[in-house]
Amino acid sequence: MPEETIFSKIIRQEIDTPLLYQDDLVTAFRDIAPRVDTHILIIPNTLIPTINEVTEEDELALGRMITVAKKLAEQEGIDEDGYRLIINCNKHGGQEVYHIHMHLLGGQPLGPMLSI
Ligand code: AMP
Repeated sequence: MPEETIFSKIIRQEIDTPLLYQDDLVTAFRDIAPRVDTHILIIPNTLIPTINEVTEEDELALGRMITVAKKLAEQEGIDEDGYRLIINCNKHGGQEVYHIHMHLLGGQPLGPMLSI
């Protein structure tokens, strides 16, 4: 079994992180250290450490993450101007928390896709 992260506690509401959205498959909440005006994390309720561990059984939850991102972008009023969705994987991807999460970033121009 993969080791739980702080995100499992957030899903179970064992710590005081307000949820923006939760259903049977996914949970969304604001990033604790926002890099831009709107910075939301959308995660599967099942602990999948990285994209490398994804299986076909996860397709429903991963698809739900996209539809929830769309709804939250509308709710935040950033859909028309646009936004970016990012999933980091492992060290080179810059992943810090080993529970898959999609960053929803927007509310301001985001600049070039990458700065290395
Ligand atoms: P990543 O580098 O893709 O693994 O991103 C992990 C993200 O999780 C970072 O943007 C952190 O600021 C964020 N984060 C870590 N702990 C928390 C927390 N307790 N609540 C909300 N966001 C968190």
